Amino acid sequence: MTPMFINGQWVASESGELFDVLDPATEEVIAQVPNGTAADVARAVAAAEAAFAEWRWVPGVERAAMLHEATRKMAAHRETLVHLLTLEEGKPIPENEEELEWVIGTFDYYAEMARTYRGRLLAPAGRSQFNFVMKEPYGVVACIVPFNYPLLLLAWKMAPALAAGNTVILKPANETPLSTLRLVELAFDHFPAGVVNVITGDGPRAGEPLVTHPAVPVIAFTGSTAVGQRIARLAAERIKRTHLELGGKDAFVIAPDADIETAIEAVAYASLLNAGQVCTSTERVYVPHRMVGTFAGGLADYVNGLRLGPGLEPTTDIGPLAAARFREKVAAHVADAVQKGAKVVAGGSRPGQFPRGFYFQPTVLINVNHTMLCMREETFGPTIPVMGYSDFDEAIRLANDSDYGLGAVCRTNDPRLAKRFFEEVRAGTIWINDPLTDNYGGPFGGMKMSGNARELGEEGLESFLETKHVHWDFDDSPKEWWYPY
Ligand code: NAD
Repeated sequence: MTPMFINGQWVASESGELFDVLDPATEEVIAQVPNGTAADVARAVAAAEAAFAEWRWVPGVERAAMLHEATRKMAAHRETLVHLLTLEEGKPIPENEEELEWVIGTFDYYAEMARTYRGRLLAPAGRSQFNFVMKEPYGVVACIVPFNYPLLLLAWKMAPALAAGNTVILKPANETPLSTLRLVELAFDHFPAGVVNVITGDGPRAGEPLVTHPAVPVIAFTGSTAVGQRIARLAAERIKRTHLELGGKDAFVIAPDADIETAIEAVAYASLLNAGQVCTSTERVYVPHRMVGTFAGGLADYVNGLRLGPGLEPTTDIGPLAAARFREKVAAHVADAVQKGAKVVAGGSRPGQFPRGFYFQPTVLINVNHTMLCMREETFGPTIPVMGYSDFDEAIRLANDSDYGLGAVCRTNDPRLAKRFFEEVRAGTIWINDPLTDNYGGPFGGMKMSGNARELGEEGLESFLETKHVHWDFDDSPKEWWYPY
């Protein structure tokens, strides 16, 4: 049993129950982890609340030093953490190496921001007044994360929350709790007890008590839109701050001037990274009608040349999906598309060479339209539906024809088309030419049903700071506007 972490102690759940963690490449059980309950959550919240009383007053420079110390420890244990990420999540080692680099960078970035970012001075409202805006930590922050980037999405919440002076309770996904537990064990052992806690277990059972607990004022959540909606409803009861990073259905528009060969490589990367399990995966591709045949044919050849396999194999390009239920959804979207008239030009099913493991072939679909699930709902798998458009107006209209608005990509060297794309497409991140790159300094998040939050950048720290306006008058004599009139 791999225990969870409450108040500086490694503990079992009060229920004594466990759940299995599987290797998605083999379907073998690799660990058992406590299935937490409301009683465990209550213990964690009490610890985090008690720790906050001291932690909030630790000077920013000291917090910065402690966060940098954590990143030194992460770097020292890079191999262990990358191995564990690969084992439980399934994506290839180079992608997990990159994930860990981003985790380290995020903690370093917010460590530095914590030194200086505390609010602002205002022009005073009176001669003897001193007016300023203070930014204060909220208290206990719940960080609930999904399976696909277990440590990265944790870092985007945990680093700014701690840097701002909050204490945290982390709730990893049931597919991927091991890397989080190990990260806390290896890199946060110098933090005071109760500042960092980890609760493991099922969403409704271990996550909901965190969301509803009266002493948890902020819920930072990344995950599906359906669970985000449930959390928003529960949090509304106490007007809690919710920080929701939800699903996506990103469009990729290939402009008429784009080079097809490079566009094929860019689309394959944007759609198939982490077997398509990226919130900003390209899930819809739009190509000028006259280019569809050449593009889709070239893309089919390209993806057929990519190597499926266990993430731990150095030759693997694409690993398995993280769990059986994710593969079932991908298969259902392909079946729905085919039933409504789509044509599969690459992949389309489970690969025969892997009788075990949650693999699905990289799949290219043509003859698709917006009535199909694969063009409307998040697939979160290695599918690439390709649709034709007649002119750029139509491309933008199709890109915007979605309930989601997380990211969008355009390949073009025509600045007029690029400008139209980034001005007219409703998405929180726009990539022109280079899909799926990140930058610590810039905010990441969604519009529409993709969420209400921004992570990274100054916005990412703001989310974990309460705003207070202080009016201080150095002249305490009675004011002429007081009674009597
Ligand atoms: P999920 O919504 O099923 O689960 C996410 C987390 O919420 C898990 O820890 C889960 O245990 C917990 N949870 C589930 N039900 C809960 C409840 N009722 N109360 C509290 N917690 C609960 O998501 P998933 O399948 O693990 O991840 C995939 C989803 O995450 C996709 O929709 C993807 O787009 C989204 N995602 C979004 C972003 C982003 O930044 N917008 C990034 C990555 C992933």
